[in-house]
Amino acid sequence: MNYKNFPMVPRVIFGRGSFNQLSEIISPKRLSSAAPFIYLVDDVFKSNSWLTSRISLSYDDRIIYISTKEEPKTSQVDTLVEEIILSTKARPSGIIGIGGGSVLDLAKAVSIMLTNEGETRLYQGWDLVKNPGLYHVGIPTLSGTGAEVSRTTVLTGPDKKLGINSDFTPFDQVVLDPELTKDVPCDQWFYTGMDCFIHSIESLKGTYLNAFSKTYGDMAFNLCQEVFLNNSALSKEETEDKLMMASWHGGMSIVYSQVGIAHAMSYGLSYVLGTKHGIGNCVVFDHLEEFYPEGVQLFKKMKMKHNIELPQGICAQLSEEEMNAMINIALGLEPLWENALGKNWKKRISSKQLKSLYLKM
Ligand code: NAD
Ligand code: ZN
Repeated sequence: MNYKNFPMVPRVIFGRGSFNQLSEIISPKRLSSAAPFIYLVDDVFKSNSWLTSRISLSYDDRIIYISTKEEPKTSQVDTLVEEIILSTKARPSGIIGIGGGSVLDLAKAVSIMLTNEGETRLYQGWDLVKNPGLYHVGIPTLSGTGAEVSRTTVLTGPDKKLGINSDFTPFDQVVLDPELTKDVPCDQWFYTGMDCFIHSIESLKGTYLNAFSKTYGDMAFNLCQEVFLNNSALSKEETEDKLMMASWHGGMSIVYSQVGIAHAMSYGLSYVLGTKHGIGNCVVFDHLEEFYPEGVQLFKKMKMKHNIELPQGICAQLSEEEMNAMINIALGLEPLWENALGKNWKKRISSKQLKSLYLKM
């Protein structure tokens, strides 16, 4: 057996208000006065001085606001990298991403692409990155994806949606300040939180499971139940703290295993319909009782408790071609199916089954 040797986030600060310490954390990393820190910030914070007034800009430091209407694309990374190269006198000292999974992934990708040649799409895959990226810091403002700990950055390219999985992808520093999540709208809180719940289920019910993944997965699973089902004894602050830690553990759990069927099928929805990750996972998971009976039952309880109405019939209008594309994208994610159903997964799932599942969504 040849075990994989994974990198981890080497530094993390946790606590409400820890965001205030950002400038003292990063200032030793400044390479020169000509080498700025570039902040990629979700544009939902554009006129939010509670957050932005605490970003202290010196020399040529600057903030680039990022729209998260659509999830990150390889072409978007290329444009950002070019813009940064053209507008800075020296290679930046670091990239700081402040936002949900979308902005965290963009920050990781931009940091890599500032030190690696060619187009971003060439690096979608496993271990294709040659040079370490720039110093990069992740500051989540939305909990659930695990993007703050993961070794990947998920990007939609011209012909596939696939991560840049590499040893250079994880952040050099993460700032976990649960207070930054206080204004997330309820629906979004649920969808992205469920991403974490689904990570834990897919990891714990997968055939790749081992003690490393199980311990982290159990932790994420239990925290999600506390936050989404048994939260009557918890303050809002406590739920924010716990969900941020659930996200971290859910992300750690899949480092040494894989996600499963909900993610495979949600990637199909995303590629063909542009459905976002959190809501797409919920739409799919709602119909996966057959594969994850207890998990789906708990999910339905959580959905009811928080009055979440998922969209219906989103695949009803698809052409034959689009449906086939969706199925092919989903089935192409072989490790996810192998994790979910075992080595003989091809005997246990067919295009026909997938089509009938998609038509229910
Ligand atoms: P997101 O980053 O797309 O944000 C969703 C919405 O929430 C946006 O409208 C954003 O403006 C808003 N938002 C974020 N923080 C807010 C705050 N504090 N207050 C108010 N609004 C706020 O959503 P997400 O679910 O966190 O991320 C999804 C992305 O993460 C997808 O692109 C997915 O592919 C990626 N992802 C990556 C990994 C990984 O390991 N790299 C894992 C899972 C998902
Ligand atoms: Zn996910």
